[in-house]
Amino acid sequence: MPVLERSLRYLFVPIILAFIGIAVIQQLTATWQGWLPRFDDLPYYLLSLSAVLALQFKCGRISYLSLLLLLYYHLSQTEPLSSFDRDQVFLTGTLIITFFAISKDRNPISIHFFKVLLGICACFALAFIWKAGAEGLSSFNMTQLPSTLNLIASLYLPIGISCIVISIYTVWHATGTNSTIALTQFIWLFNYYLPNDMSFAILLSMLAAAYLFSMLFALYDLAYKDELTGLASRRALNTMALSLNKHYCVAMVDIDHFKSFNDTYGHDVGDQVLRLVAKKLSKVKGGGQVFRYGGEEFTIVFESKNIERVLPHLEEIRQKIGQYNIVLRDQGRKGKSKLDRNRKQKPNQTVNITISIGVAEQRGETSFEKTLKRADEALYKAKNNGRNCVFA
Ligand code: GH3
Ligand code: MG
Ligand code: MG
Repeated sequence: MPVLERSLRYLFVPIILAFIGIAVIQQLTATWQGWLPRFDDLPYYLLSLSAVLALQFKCGRISYLSLLLLLYYHLSQTEPLSSFDRDQVFLTGTLIITFFAISKDRNPISIHFFKVLLGICACFALAFIWKAGAEGLSSFNMTQLPSTLNLIASLYLPIGISCIVISIYTVWHATGTNSTIALTQFIWLFNYYLPNDMSFAILLSMLAAAYLFSMLFALYDLAYKDELTGLASRRALNTMALSLNKHYCVAMVDIDHFKSFNDTYGHDVGDQVLRLVAKKLSKVKGGGQVFRYGGEEFTIVFESKNIERVLPHLEEIRQKIGQYNIVLRDQGRKGKSKLDRNRKQKPNQTVNITISIGVAEQRGETSFEKTLKRADEALYKAKNNGRNCVFA
């Protein structure tokens, strides 16, 4: 995905949506002032739920953030922070959010818990050092200090760095979880600079809802998306089959001699080729929906199409894949197994792979499986016919 699209999807759109949400809720709360206290307990429920679910699904960072925000909310409800403590707590929070933004998601109930604890303690220590430094600097006459020292004593420098780090990381590793961590930073900043603009309970509830949604989306992807290729998975195919109308075509696609390709170029290159084939297949014309059936096999479903209309599109995609020159870049020795390192791979060598396709049209059969089986039989014929061809 291009950088611009990643930035829009994972950084700007969530923040703009949060802005819109804040604006809408502000309008509503102006007219429903009496309702506000009713939301005071909502963050307790939503953040607890998100912490428990995140723990269950091993989303370590979301569970830690939910628990820490819960703790902060509880403390801020019971005892308002003085202005200086408020600065320090804000900076500590900013550092902790940045720490989670650049960490990996690990099971919270493991040895990594202690590493996270250490990281959180380091954030507290850094904020404490900053406070001591800022206090020391403020004992001088600020106008006599160089402007760089004034900047360090203010909050702008650490906040600026943190926002840049989080933004770059979110765009670079574009995932739903990273996006919600960037959102956490935005809401944390909003609450610090505009504390009276909106109830913290509502802001936190919005954030907890974002955590819950991001986990739901992640779960959906886990169930219905193939991790390697990003295509819809076999489970998605089975679900879709239940809602197909009576008229459709199914094609089974299989990469030719893929085992020997793996043996020659290594499993990592094989994985790259699988991704490439998936990308090319997903551009098939005629409204075909592509699924990874398993291994090096893919399924394409054409709804409301008869076989005569589907064959030219399959033939076109077969030719495109066969003619595509795959450039094998020398990926360096690091991370390769001994076996892979011993394989001779010239830098920037090009190779070609071919696919065979079997296709079948629904003929009033009762089940999708039967049509799929006929497509598989046609694929078998394509293989016996010398491969790199389409058989119906
Ligand atoms: P044919 O032309 O008859 O289809 O021969 P083939 O070698 O492609 O078929 P075979 O079923 O013998 O081998 C399939 C190979 O696909 C075996 C396995 O190494 C490879 N494969 C399956 N899944 C993956 C994967 O996720 N990554 C990689 N790199 N290889 C895979
Ligand atoms: Mg196969
Ligand atoms: Mg094969």
